[in-house]
Amino acid sequence: MSKWIDICLVRETGHFISQLKHLGSPSEYTMIFQRAMLDWYEKNRRGYVWRAQADPYKILVAEIMLQQTNADKVEPVYANFVKQYPNINALMQSDLQTVKAVLRPLGLEYRAARLKNIAEKLVVEHGGEVPSTEEALLVLPGIGRYVANAVLCFAYSRRVALVDVNVIRLYDRVFGFRSHKNRPRDDGEVWEFASKMLPEANFKEYNLALLDFTARICALKRPNCTGCPLTGICLCYTKGALTNGN
Ligand code: SF4
Repeated sequence: MSKWIDICLVRETGHFISQLKHLGSPSEYTMIFQRAMLDWYEKNRRGYVWRAQADPYKILVAEIMLQQTNADKVEPVYANFVKQYPNINALMQSDLQTVKAVLRPLGLEYRAARLKNIAEKLVVEHGGEVPSTEEALLVLPGIGRYVANAVLCFAYSRRVALVDVNVIRLYDRVFGFRSHKNRPRDDGEVWEFASKMLPEANFKEYNLALLDFTARICALKRPNCTGCPLTGICLCYTKGALTNGN
């Protein structure tokens, strides 16, 4: 029996997390997954403008726009937004109706007030800077753990995981790791699992790789298993659980 099948059997009995914990270092299986994601990303990355950003404000703006919104749709609106409001002060002093109009193509008008509230709070309470701690980010209006971690990872190079419905689906399909909570995105065990999957280096690229891979290959409907580098280790694939391309 090959090594990865041994690991499949272990995780099917529900001990995969404790195995990761007790190993003290990434298992061979985890490293195969990390390498596959990073290699795939190297060749297939999507070059959105906010990914070239180092400015925490612009990264925060992008992450708020990307909430439940297709990235391709966000790109032109984001470019226009940061041109009109290039910094936190400009956004704070802006007219709400004008901000709404800028966001209108995304149907995100309700986020105009949120962005302005955030800008005001940042100016009043943080000296016009985006904070670099999870605690401070989480008390900003409408900011949850995903956006907070995205800012920490992409703006401040912190080694933190990003968990959304797509990442949850990927870990479920490949590792058989599934949350039993009503809202898996709020499940601490899911975040813990995702944190343990992060490589020591290149964690920023790894997080971006998962976003792109789940959009292009392991999509919700009709995952492209034939073009997937994970067929040798994917539990769902090896079990034949994805029939009819779904
Ligand atoms: S083999 Fe298919 S289900 Fe498994 S990770 Fe790849 S695309 Fe997703």
